[in-house]
Amino acid sequence: MSLWEKYLDTKKFPQLDKNLKVDTLIIGGGIAGLTTLYFLKDKKDVCLVEASQIGLGVTKNTTGKITYLQGVIYQDLEKNIDYKTAIKYLKSQKEGINLLKSIIKKEKINCDLELVKSYVVADKKADVKKVKQEKIFLENQGIIVKEIIKENYYAIEVDDTYVFNVSKYLNGLKKVLQNQMIFENTKIENIKYQNGSYVCQTKGYVIEAKRVVVACHYPFFLFPFCLPLKSHIEKSYLIAWRVLENEKYSVITASNPGYSMRFYQDGKNVYKIGLARSHETAFSQDDKANFLSVQKLFKVKDEDIVYRWSNVDIISSDKMPFVGEIKDNLYIMTGFNTWGMINSVVGAKLISDLTLQKYNENTELFNPKRKNGYKVKSFFSNSCLSVISFVRSKLKNKKWYGNNIRFEKRKGENVAIYVDEQNNEHVVINKCPHMRCGLIFNEIEKTWDCPCHSSRFTIDGKCVKGPSLNDISFKE
Ligand SMILES: Cc1cc2nc3c(=O)[nH]c(=O)nc-3n(C[C@H](O)[C@H](O)[C@H](O)COP(=O)(O)OP(=O)(O)OC[C@H]3O[C@@H](n4cnc5c(N)ncnc54)[C@H](O)[C@@H]3O)c2cc1C
Repeated sequence: MSLWEKYLDTKKFPQLDKNLKVDTLIIGGGIAGLTTLYFLKDKKDVCLVEASQIGLGVTKNTTGKITYLQGVIYQDLEKNIDYKTAIKYLKSQKEGINLLKSIIKKEKINCDLELVKSYVVADKKADVKKVKQEKIFLENQGIIVKEIIKENYYAIEVDDTYVFNVSKYLNGLKKVLQNQMIFENTKIENIKYQNGSYVCQTKGYVIEAKRVVVACHYPFFLFPFCLPLKSHIEKSYLIAWRVLENEKYSVITASNPGYSMRFYQDGKNVYKIGLARSHETAFSQDDKANFLSVQKLFKVKDEDIVYRWSNVDIISSDKMPFVGEIKDNLYIMTGFNTWGMINSVVGAKLISDLTLQKYNENTELFNPKRKNGYKVKSFFSNSCLSVISFVRSKLKNKKWYGNNIRFEKRKGENVAIYVDEQNNEHVVINKCPHMRCGLIFNEIEKTWDCPCHSSRFTIDGKCVKGPSLNDISFKE
């Protein structure tokens, strides 16, 4: 369980129980989908469907920083695309922060929004030059940046960034949107284009929509768009432990993998949240060792840790989100590159403007059909990563499963069996229904995780994160 999960309120929305015809359907109730519904709330016939419950996806596993100081993103964008694009991205992030703040203020959402300083730290000599260049870039855009020069690190500081409690933010949006058409426990299993509209199939019912916004983190369909060739998945490990003082800053290192941290105060309890060991899911798969090394890095004792969780996000080839139309009236919002708090708000505004046929200056910047997303080099490296994750997932390396897993053939089917503390067997088919990758057992969080495209399943095989649409339960 992440630190944020317990703050999600228990108010539930109904499950879809009839066929519907709407103007716009939003698929996914994370921060991206819910914020899109917020911007479209005055429009008629807009509906949002969520496969499980609002906020229970990737969003609840975030760090919750709201900052435009995102490592050395502006250097990366200059390198991947060009200087002008880096400037436009900075502008979008500054506007996104203001937009988020204005929603919080207007709707009087108590989400513990706190003004904090943000730092980017170069703790390796090789990173100092990059961080210094980031400083020059930001200063050229009129931002006041402080320099901190120490013997063992170099850092830059800005003082107009924020942290918040994302679950409380979603609770606030839910209240504002309580009379909207929202359905939970309603998964879209198929989309077909028919006679000028999209026919979206759920279990038992159909929603016909003129426009569809796919805000479900990893789209469950391969075509159109083919996201695996334009992105890869990055996984990180987080811990939260109690400390005495709420220090008003957040940190991220310039190097990747590096670390990231912030504080959060809830009444008398103050937590420090540390994140590290980020890796492409195609590679490291020993979750237990990764959690241990995060703990070691932050010098936290086992007994002091209150929460441990991992999270994944989609990293686009050029480090720019994919938000916009991919086919007539079919929109996606994804590829937030671990900066989805601001980008989902910028993206939600963009999607709402596009569907309302209003001008939005980020249309080209985030355009999912842009040429940069298709560069031959990144296309090649993403294809390689897909192959590597597929091949590695098929190797039954003991380190990736722990001692409580065994593999067997039952009823002609290859199954994986997890034996819990009470000696009960939990049997699953160890193959992701999405694209047939083998699944890795996450011993700390007790889930089966797909290293290829980030689907997750409970120990009894229930799919709790897409793109997989199906469970992996095994019927004896
Ligand atoms: C380790 C880590 C730390 C991060 N920290 C930060 C941070 O500090 N600041 C920041 O800005 N960003 C951060 N991020 C990024 C941010 O958390 C994500 O980009 C963001 O939460 C993604 O939101 P989402 O709405 O797209 O996805 P989700 O929250 O996953 O929402 C998608 C929803 O769609 C639903 N869904 C899926 N398939 C279907 C279907 N077929 N039918 C219906 N519903 C469906 C899911 O159930 C889910 O609820 C971090 C990411 C990681 C990995």
